[in-house]
Amino acid sequence: MEKLDPRTIMLMATLMCAAMSIVMFSVYRSFRREVDGLGHWSAGLLLLVCASVLFGTRDMVPDAISLLSANASLLLGIGLSMLGTEKFYGQKPSLRFYALACCLSMAGLVWWRLADVNFSMRVAIFSLTVFLFYARQAQLVWKYGERHFSSFFFGGLMAVQACVVLVRGVSALLYGGAHVDLLAAGTRASIYLATANFMALLLTVGFMTVATRRLQTILERRSTHDPLTQVLNRRGFGDAYAREKANLRRYRRPLTLLSIDLDYFKLVNDRHGHAVGDRVLAHVAMVISGALRESDCVARFGGEEFVVLMPDMAPHHALGAAERIRTLLCAPNGKGLPPCTVSIGVACQASEHEDLEQLLARADAALYQAKENGRDRIEFDIVGVTGACAPSASLVS
Ligand code: GH3
Ligand code: MG
Ligand code: MG
Repeated sequence: MEKLDPRTIMLMATLMCAAMSIVMFSVYRSFRREVDGLGHWSAGLLLLVCASVLFGTRDMVPDAISLLSANASLLLGIGLSMLGTEKFYGQKPSLRFYALACCLSMAGLVWWRLADVNFSMRVAIFSLTVFLFYARQAQLVWKYGERHFSSFFFGGLMAVQACVVLVRGVSALLYGGAHVDLLAAGTRASIYLATANFMALLLTVGFMTVATRRLQTILERRSTHDPLTQVLNRRGFGDAYAREKANLRRYRRPLTLLSIDLDYFKLVNDRHGHAVGDRVLAHVAMVISGALRESDCVARFGGEEFVVLMPDMAPHHALGAAERIRTLLCAPNGKGLPPCTVSIGVACQASEHEDLEQLLARADAALYQAKENGRDRIEFDIVGVTGACAPSASLVS
């Protein structure tokens, strides 16, 4: 087999990395508001490309200048990718660590290149710094990454990169620099170089994989949640209902729905302004969600109307939960928001043949009754049996 020419490998990898950094930059331009860290990743990749180009100028400019500037570019680039990953996972970028690691490493590289020439020490200090940058990223993915293929791939990649550079740094210290010289002719050096460059390409793929997954999650959430209150919207609620309906068929568990409407909310807007009205809506959504179980679903059905779906909830317990919501909303909110009351209509899924529209219509009819009967109260329609729960009535909870 013919030996791989290290320079050809580097040229190919540089071109591919350059193309990838353009892709990354375009992703950054499109999604910088949604996904943090993309800017650092694309700048980091660009620096990796610069490093390759600088390595390539070794025949044109003094060796020391091209090698040292290429190493600086690599360190800054990989360090930037670490800062990007920190931002991606919502952590504060460790700028001090980045600056200190780059400065110390560069000081060592300059010293062992110009003052006391020592290739092994240069490889060791460079590799160990890069190891820290990769290891930090692997740790971040381990700690904050979602349990999903994209995180396994990205985290695995970072761990492998960390191991490879650690082995290289330790080998340089133990066996001397010639053992790990990437630019030396020879099969081993070529394989080393090819692997290193292939890993740089995989790095971009890793960034893209987790960024795309994050974007998918954000867009999915946006299409199923209400931006003001962060509870489900009509569409998200429809999906949740469909899931629970399937369980109802399978396990024959009761399913209860609450239709909640703020009383005289128009007055809140008129007296305190729309912005305060919005804050009241967000507060109400928070109180409702806080009063329920994990398995219950809350949605805002436009305006000042909320809907709650309670799977596996017997009607009298649902009435207890409705009363809890009503009482909590009457209590002082501690945020300086105007007090508000709610009227609640309760309906229980009559049979597996009843659909969401019919169930909603019955809960809304009960709600209408509550409004008619003076507001700030709960009315129920449990399969045709209607009734009222006035504010003062004591309910089974
Ligand atoms: P009722 O007791 O009969 O329910 O009276 P109400 O005033 O609550 O009901 P109405 O339907 O007359 O008015 C609803 C008000 O809700 C009118 C509208 O300005 C307000 N509203 C709807 N959506 C929003 C919103 O997103 N933000 C704010 N601040 N107000 C909203
Ligand atoms: Mg209202
Ligand atoms: Mg209304």
